[in-house]
Amino acid sequence: MRFASLGSGSRGNGTIVASQTTNLLVDCGFSYKEALHRLKRLELEPTDLSGILVTHEHGDHVSGVETLANRHSIPVYASRGTWIEIGANKFKNPMYINALFAIRDIEIIPVTVPHDAREPLQFVFSCQGIRLGILSDLGSISQGVIDGYQDLDAISVEFNHDKEMLNTGPYPNSLKSRIGGDFGHLNNWQAAEFLRRIWSDRLQTVVACHISETNNDSSRVRRALDSVIEHQNVHSLIASQSDGFNWIQIGTS
Ligand SMILES: [Zn+2]
Ligand SMILES: [Zn+2]
Repeated sequence: MRFASLGSGSRGNGTIVASQTTNLLVDCGFSYKEALHRLKRLELEPTDLSGILVTHEHGDHVSGVETLANRHSIPVYASRGTWIEIGANKFKNPMYINALFAIRDIEIIPVTVPHDAREPLQFVFSCQGIRLGILSDLGSISQGVIDGYQDLDAISVEFNHDKEMLNTGPYPNSLKSRIGGDFGHLNNWQAAEFLRRIWSDRLQTVVACHISETNNDSSRVRRALDSVIEHQNVHSLIASQSDGFNWIQIGTS
């Protein structure tokens, strides 16, 4: 398996998860034109996509999904609650996620997360024994999340904000409480603690994603990341809003 990002952060998200024969897009928070441009950077066309998975209805995850999916007849997968919020009737191929399912050779395990959306999901992908976790937009770490993300080979996890920068930053108090609350977003140290809870010897790749441009900076993310992985032979990187990250190979297939 391999994965890559079209961009990551509150101005738009999109992650590609791929096997040798299948490309899936998780979320599309970019305009159609911008999504095409970003797909091209990864040498992909919309017709290469076998499905789009939507984690939840927030604009930074869904704003580009309808146009991309309908213009190219790409099936879209989301929870019942997410479909109610985004309007299943606007889509040619709405698919409802209830439990574990597969798209071609990639198995997808949905995990419920604490976030202020109708029925938000995040996903663990599995193909030929390789397991990749995608995890963003959650305000706290539930036992279900810890259980769901065990035994991974790679993970992309939200390091949204630095607690001090959020508290002293420019956002209004109501937004600060939303972001810092149990149904908002993970701060750097919550993300690091989560990694400690799911750590195993097979974990090779850790990506820090959905980083706030206002309430975080890369040195603080790096410090939190390194507190977990400093003595281990693990590839780690920080995803950006403008470029996401380029293809990362996991395992050999
Ligand atoms: Zn988001
Ligand atoms: Zn969200």
